[in-house]
Amino acid sequence: MIFMTDDPVRRTDAEWRELLSPEQYEIARRGETERAFTGRYYKHTEQGSYRCVCCGARLFRSGAKYDSGSGWPSFHEPAAADRVALREDRSHGMMRVEVRCQRCGAHLGHVFDDGPAPTGNRYCINSASLDFESETEPSD
Ligand code: FE
Repeated sequence: MIFMTDDPVRRTDAEWRELLSPEQYEIARRGETERAFTGRYYKHTEQGSYRCVCCGARLFRSGAKYDSGSGWPSFHEPAAADRVALREDRSHGMMRVEVRCQRCGAHLGHVFDDGPAPTGNRYCINSASLDFESETEPSD
């Protein structure tokens, strides 16, 4: 399911529950994490874009995806810097940087500094927050 609007997406909690599967809702709207090695995009290697499951924003491209061995889809950069919002996350006794969708605030995952060149970043992202779109040629 992909739907697009031009404006920042604000929906009520009841609307998100209606639009998303229970797993997508728990992860994307409530910040839960899918179990490692279980997500549908962990080993996914097709060419295309990974969009926000909540609002359809193009968040990551297949060209930046790599196998980190972590059990979650990993990217060394977002599709554009302004597609994601970063927030300090001190939950679970750790200091991490949470990654959210800039447009709708969906929880995507976390970013770590142990990624590959050229960025050195590892965007560790839940499959459940993404919706893959196959493309033969990359767009915007
Ligand atoms: Fe979004």
